[in-house]
Amino acid sequence: MPLRLNEVRMSAVKPSATLAMAAKAKALIKAGVPVMNLSAGEPDFPTPACIVEAARAAIGLRSSHAYTNPRGTDELIAAMQQKLSREQGVDYKDNEVIATVGTKGALMLALDALVGPGDEVVLFAPYWVTYADLVRLAGARPVVVSTDRERGYQPSMQEFEAALSPSTKLVVLNSPNNPTGAGWPESMLRAILERVRGTGIWVISDEIYEKLVYGDFKHVSPASFDDDARGRTLFVGGVAKAYAMTGWRVGVAAGPKLVIDALMTLQGQRTTCATAVAQVAAAYALREGPDVQAAVAEMRAAYTKRRALVLERARAIPGVKVHDPEGAFYVFLDVNERIPARRALPAGGGGSVIADDVVLANRLLEESNVATVMGSAFQGPGCLRVSYAASEDTLNQGFDRIAAFFASTTSA
Ligand code: GLU
Repeated sequence: MPLRLNEVRMSAVKPSATLAMAAKAKALIKAGVPVMNLSAGEPDFPTPACIVEAARAAIGLRSSHAYTNPRGTDELIAAMQQKLSREQGVDYKDNEVIATVGTKGALMLALDALVGPGDEVVLFAPYWVTYADLVRLAGARPVVVSTDRERGYQPSMQEFEAALSPSTKLVVLNSPNNPTGAGWPESMLRAILERVRGTGIWVISDEIYEKLVYGDFKHVSPASFDDDARGRTLFVGGVAKAYAMTGWRVGVAAGPKLVIDALMTLQGQRTTCATAVAQVAAAYALREGPDVQAAVAEMRAAYTKRRALVLERARAIPGVKVHDPEGAFYVFLDVNERIPARRALPAGGGGSVIADDVVLANRLLEESNVATVMGSAFQGPGCLRVSYAASEDTLNQGFDRIAAFFASTTSA
């Protein structure tokens, strides 16, 4: 008998394109190739020293060597509650929050708890690579509402309406968005919550980029709108992006006790709890004392400068268009005009013509040694995601190479 995987389950999932591009870039760098890595959304800053110190002080304690409650330590539960009250404007009881293994962990548990075969989950594209796979792994079906650059990556309510059906069980929101950086105004979020009022439709609000916002954009949390919104919305977020803590793997989820209890049960059976010493670091970060606030402000100031730099560099490339991102640390380059194959290849074409964004991202990496992520991975074909969680020097060299690559290819 041949040895087989669970092929049904594994056919529902593919490797994460963001992690795959980052891994390829890191492997090339390790082999001595000078790659400019603009792929994964991972801060290039170290975790602020004050947060590291808090973890260092805790690492010798027995409590850091033991399982914690699946919900998290008392200290972290209190820090999550304070954070959610202060920043989301929502008071959660201690049985309405849970610390998870990264924000991805919160999303995985939530999708398993909320949806299954026969259910539909509305996603707004472009969307983060992992959502659709987690929906399929849970046995449910993603239903995609497209948004575009011309409309600031905001959906029309008619298109949203058309995506809803009696099978709709969940809507996933992500403002500011990965990969476009688009932040939705409060009116857009309110319109969506208004439409699902009184229905059996849950909402997940992924707010992992909430602190990385620019200009006069104001982040708002749908759960804060009113009792109906609070009762159907699961907040997910975490410490990874704003505090440069990607590898510590601590996520936060908050919502009605019914859902959080389910996440507790699943987490207790799957991973027990987030790593104890990482919970100490996360609690320190989420309390946001003056030292943490200063570190976050410094990183945000750096991202603000880099955002201006990448927008200027991107717009200087003929045929490249880009939305001014309200948040996160990505620009989503619309390169449709530079992909003639999306219309028709010139007779005898081939050669230096770029077939699509997947070919483009791979050629940029292999020929020009600059790592980005293909838009298709986010259901945004004809685009490239560039992460500006990289130094100005890396960004400048990366854009020098992207510009030179485009200059050497057949133009539309
Ligand atoms: N969320 C980041 C990204 O989109 C990190 C990698 C991942 O988990 O996708 O690049």
